[in-house]
Amino acid sequence: MVKVAVVEGDGIGHEVVPVACDILTAVRPDIELFEVEVGYGRWERTGSACGEETMADLRSADAILFGAVTTPPDPGYRSVLLQIRHALDLYANVRPIQGEGVDVIIVRENTEGLYSGIEWTEPDRACTVRVVSRRGSERIARYACTLAKPRRHLTVGNKANVLKSDCLFVEICTAEALRAGVPCRVNYIDALCLDLLMHPDRYDVVVTTNMFGDILSDAAAYLVGGLGMLPSANIGERHALFEPVHGSAPDIAGKNVANPIAAIRSAAMLLCHFGDPVSGAAVEEAVLRVLGAGIRTRDLGGAAGTREFGAAVLREVGRAGRA
Ligand code: NAD
Repeated sequence: MVKVAVVEGDGIGHEVVPVACDILTAVRPDIELFEVEVGYGRWERTGSACGEETMADLRSADAILFGAVTTPPDPGYRSVLLQIRHALDLYANVRPIQGEGVDVIIVRENTEGLYSGIEWTEPDRACTVRVVSRRGSERIARYACTLAKPRRHLTVGNKANVLKSDCLFVEICTAEALRAGVPCRVNYIDALCLDLLMHPDRYDVVVTTNMFGDILSDAAAYLVGGLGMLPSANIGERHALFEPVHGSAPDIAGKNVANPIAAIRSAAMLLCHFGDPVSGAAVEEAVLRVLGAGIRTRDLGGAAGTREFGAAVLREVGRAGRA
């Protein structure tokens, strides 16, 4: 039996994750879900945002369905999501940007770059070390090439004109693409950001370093209706975590207005990861049918609440199951 650890996290995580769990349970009642508390809310209450026992719970799961966590810009607080990605070595962050006329997959290196966690603060300056390793670059390049091989091509997003660390990244990615027989282009990340928004059809699989991928995928959300639409998978050799691209959205938390599609699609990615693309596609199709019926949350110009949208998807999933 597949065991999934469910982390609601903070903010709208408490609203969108229960919706995704209901749908997951409806399509695959055999999957065992167990809750794990992680996040800023827990830190405020207990002084610990995650802890060793909690990490052990996450490790014991076959997969993790994650909402979002709040990370205050406080030098004394370390992002709990980054801790989890490092601890479980979730090196590939896969972010599909799919919608009308758009079919792009952003593959973001997830364990190093500017988010390596090597940083310190002095009285008059603060430093963050950007790490690009051969091992880290090779494995993300290989992962991206595997995704790109049956598709069209690979684009390597970088800033090698300014950052020496990106010279290594580009060298390794282009070599891996050549080895895998994947057509490959190399683009500077700043120009790529605009070009992707203006001409998404020019892009297929984009591989890039940690922070560039973080920013590029949020910007790319513009192409498909905003942050409420984008799911992601964080993949490692032994563990996998599925989460919406968006954060805890404190500005709308607790109001039943958050769009749960990103969380629902993350659950669909989880199903595909466990070799059940049929259930994954059924969830995706149910979302599209609900949108097609004009039911939308506020960010998409509609009036449906988070729960109401989720209930509509649940009905569609049930209808398809009976058909
Ligand atoms: P955010 O993604 O939380 O929100 C950005 C904007 O998008 C907000 O206006 C929000 O209302 C809107 N939005 C996001 N998700 C939405 C949804 N599902 N439906 C409708 N609107 C949605 O980013 P932020 O405001 O920069 O960060 C807020 C907090 O989240 C911060 O503490 C940040 O550190 C954290 N964060 C966490 C993650 C994560 O857990 N993976 C990712 C990004 C940011």
